[in-house]
Amino acid sequence: MPVNQRSYEYGTSKSSIREIAAYGAQRKAQIGAEKVFDFSLGNPSVPAPEEVRRSIERSLELPPVQLHGYTPAAGLVEVRQRVAESLNRRFGCDYGAGDLYMTCGAAASLSISFNALVDPGDEVIVIAPYFPEYRVWIQTAGASCVEVMADPQTFQVDTEAVCAAITSRTKAVVVNSPNNPVGSVYSRQNLEELADVLRERESALGTAIYLVSDEPYREISYGCEVPWIPSLYDRSVVCYSYSKSLSLPGERVGWVLVPNTNPDHDELVPAIAGAGRKLGFVCAPALFQRVVMDCVDVPSDVAAYERNRKALTEGLSALGYEYIEPQGAFYLWVKSLEPDAEAFFQKAKALELLPVPSNSFGCEGWVRVGYCVSHQTIVDSMPAWRRLAEQYAQGDA
Ligand code: PLP
Repeated sequence: MPVNQRSYEYGTSKSSIREIAAYGAQRKAQIGAEKVFDFSLGNPSVPAPEEVRRSIERSLELPPVQLHGYTPAAGLVEVRQRVAESLNRRFGCDYGAGDLYMTCGAAASLSISFNALVDPGDEVIVIAPYFPEYRVWIQTAGASCVEVMADPQTFQVDTEAVCAAITSRTKAVVVNSPNNPVGSVYSRQNLEELADVLRERESALGTAIYLVSDEPYREISYGCEVPWIPSLYDRSVVCYSYSKSLSLPGERVGWVLVPNTNPDHDELVPAIAGAGRKLGFVCAPALFQRVVMDCVDVPSDVAAYERNRKALTEGLSALGYEYIEPQGAFYLWVKSLEPDAEAFFQKAKALELLPVPSNSFGCEGWVRVGYCVSHQTIVDSMPAWRRLAEQYAQGDA
């Protein structure tokens, strides 16, 4: 083959989420947008806050060479300083600009982190169900991706299962809370237990195990605590993005934090910069770095998601669907009405409902319903959800 085998495979086996979204767009063009209920993509329907526009307008007054110029590879110092100050205020820590590396969104934050941490043959544990791109980024960095199922009742981390999966090759465990695809938020107790397991395994095996916390949904939670991982476990790395919190997924901006409490901080900071260099993830978009500086404390519009969450959970519960009560993010994890989630998805699709079957996330028997859509889409989708439930009740499915 004249090209890289693995890249070819990634390029030809598209993400199923994107395939469903592409089908949804095509179907909308055929039968009308209002007749298709596309719950596939995590693309926020909530507009970016007004402060974003004002920040862009202010930046446009800058001399063009400055406005459009390269920033330092790790990002503008003043931007990183402002992010650090915000984290210090919120989580009572003492970070500085040098602990942060600005990136093109969480995708880059995670790719950089894996490349900074792993060597060939290492293992990285992910908690299933999980965001499918983790596997791509972990494998590309040279490690293998080891799936550990979450607790099947609560979808919290099954700490005993993590403990059993750790080997002398385990380099990192990835946690994502608030969680995509389940909408769960890991409790303080659950994370403390996980931290205890990691410390115990580190000392038993004589290795270093990192906790990589993927946090694009940190700001979107419904009244519960989202614990700050570095306060629970020293050897942690935080990957953040403004794609969801400020509704800026197309602008590609986020950061990686190496907390100054991480015992490997002084090697990890240059390794993060080196991984950014290796991957070509340098000088994150300058205009949106400045937006981050201006909007670092602007709250997310959680009320809009809360309204959607209420309409969707109340609607589906009245129809008899079972789901995991979402505590954060904007996804509802709904139990498939038959064991084969893909077969259930096909029946939903025939009624113009487009959730994502759980197989895509490394788990059987569920679908993910993204409620970052317009409120009207949720309301209008209810008759189709009703027909789907009726088909199963009548044995016609
Ligand atoms: N991690 C999770 C859990 C996500 O849901 C997403 C995007 O949906 C990403 C990472 C990637 O985020 P970004 O768009 O900031 O690259």
